[in-house]
Amino acid sequence: MKAKKVLIIEDEKSISDIIKFNLTKEGYEIETAYDGEEGLNKALTVNPDLVLLDIMLPVMDGFQVCKKIRESNNVPIIMLTAKEEEVDKILGLELGADDYITKPFGMRELIARIKANIRRTSFMMGEAEASKEHHGKISTYGNLTIDMTKYEVRKDERVLELTLREFELLKYLAEQENQVFSREQLLEEVWGYEYYGDIRTVDVTVRRLREKVEDDPGDPKYIMTKRGIGYFFRRP
Ligand code: CA
Repeated sequence: MKAKKVLIIEDEKSISDIIKFNLTKEGYEIETAYDGEEGLNKALTVNPDLVLLDIMLPVMDGFQVCKKIRESNNVPIIMLTAKEEEVDKILGLELGADDYITKPFGMRELIARIKANIRRTSFMMGEAEASKEHHGKISTYGNLTIDMTKYEVRKDERVLELTLREFELLKYLAEQENQVFSREQLLEEVWGYEYYGDIRTVDVTVRRLREKVEDDPGDPKYIMTKRGIGYFFRRP
């Protein structure tokens, strides 16, 4: 199998070097960028399978880079955030990052996150573990069509640009329509590995999903809130 390519956008060379060293040892192909502008250019040209994106970067910060990448590309992005900057995590997710990891992090945790996020993309691209139970499965809910094989969601005839995480959350809820899930359950089931994040991650992803799926995100018809409990999917 072709080596997966990880783009590291991090200006602190010592951190970049140690990540590169460890990921190379794990069999990844590595590209590096040391400022935001170079990072953005490489994200759009070297075709990475995943981007590790620091927030504090020269020229253009990680938030801007994330936003710019998302204008044209759904590559998984893991933001590297400083421990004390709680607000940064949420902002990163709002701008379309898939995940974040808090500095200082252990290499094992980083590698686990990278694997989990790349696995989802491979799955999406139908490269490897094509799930048998989903094979050829297309479900229609009102004017939404979810194609489990192609990882594609259409609203009327228009294909929605969802990130992988948004797709997975929608799929998970839709497959079990009317069943209410707590944020904790969704973190565990959709994010799918030992996740150290907080439940606001779920709220942010729901909000982004509603903006794409709903006619009026303020008055949703599909992705419903059960006050004090969590979320559920409703067939309109
Ligand atoms: Ca930095």
